[in-house]
Amino acid sequence: MTNIQFPPSLDEACKLLSQSAGAARIIAGGVALMVLVRHQLFSPDHLISLKQIAGLDQIRFDEKNGLTIGALVTHHRVETSPVVKERYPALAQCLHHVGNLRVRNMGTVVGDLCQGDNHSDPAPLLGVLGARIKAQSVRGERFIPMEEFHLDIYETALKEDEIATEIVIPPSLPGARSGYLRFSGNSPTDWPCLGVAAILVKEDGRCKEMKISLGSLTPVPVGFKEEAEAIRGKKLTPAVAKKFARACAARIDPIPDSRGSEWYKRRIAEVYITRIIERLNREND
Ligand SMILES: Cc1cc2nc3c(=O)[nH]c(=O)nc-3n(C[C@H](O)[C@H](O)[C@H](O)COP(=O)(O)OP(=O)(O)OC[C@H]3O[C@@H](n4cnc5c(N)ncnc54)[C@H](O)[C@@H]3O)c2cc1C
Repeated sequence: MTNIQFPPSLDEACKLLSQSAGAARIIAGGVALMVLVRHQLFSPDHLISLKQIAGLDQIRFDEKNGLTIGALVTHHRVETSPVVKERYPALAQCLHHVGNLRVRNMGTVVGDLCQGDNHSDPAPLLGVLGARIKAQSVRGERFIPMEEFHLDIYETALKEDEIATEIVIPPSLPGARSGYLRFSGNSPTDWPCLGVAAILVKEDGRCKEMKISLGSLTPVPVGFKEEAEAIRGKKLTPAVAKKFARACAARIDPIPDSRGSEWYKRRIAEVYITRIIERLNREND
């Protein structure tokens, strides 16, 4: 029998988690956890639900701190939020492609990240947007940069006694355009085989700053800082975009699986990186 507790506050939830010494699991929407339970791959003795904790279902925005998404906010709430659509359109568009409406209505964005599946759609995008995860425990709170949050498949930087309480995304850089493209070989509602996110700032028709992150192909999203540095100040002509994409694709070690071989995945990485650069470059004109 699973014992589920519904603490009324974050402090209480942190205390319960700490006292369980690793035996309890946090449950938010339950989408990922219930799949494991239904298939008898996981039989939790003790779950701590976040559902009764006030404030975790909030989306907030202010010009100084940017966007805050609480741990109980579902994908659907974020994708349909007017402020997200206006200020972070790439995020709204990215979450619109997560699974299907049932998954997006129940599953939370924070839960998606905490699950640590390497096919997460939002993980690479939140990385280029400079997001941080706020983690709380009885020991206090800390912020974990998104790019350091995923350590391996199903492994995150959260400690055993920590709860991820919110995602904080800073305000966009002036003139920045961001985007997310995904490729799913089976059906559009399937998990992505590849997801690529990028942010581009141009000055005088040249690349002033670019951040790019590739998800799904490897255990954790890969950023390409050195490659992006090499094209700073250049015009993003088709030849430059292609050379950049080829250099990025050559650096990754994709996991071969039923979605494709290592060679195939490197090839689609090259194609999709070229596409996102061309798209953002056009939009930035
Ligand atoms: C059919 C299907 C299709 C899907 N397709 C996609 C897809 O295309 N793209 C994509 O990105 N995702 C996809 N998903 C994943 C889905 O987005 C996640 O399962 C969901 O968002 C998880 O959120 P949740 O609130 O339900 O997490 P839960 O199931 O409640 O928890 C998941 C894990 O995270 C931990 N956890 C949850 N919240 C916290 C917290 N605040 N602090 C600490 N630990 C926490 C839990 O202990 C558990 O280990 C799919 C899932 C299904 C079932």
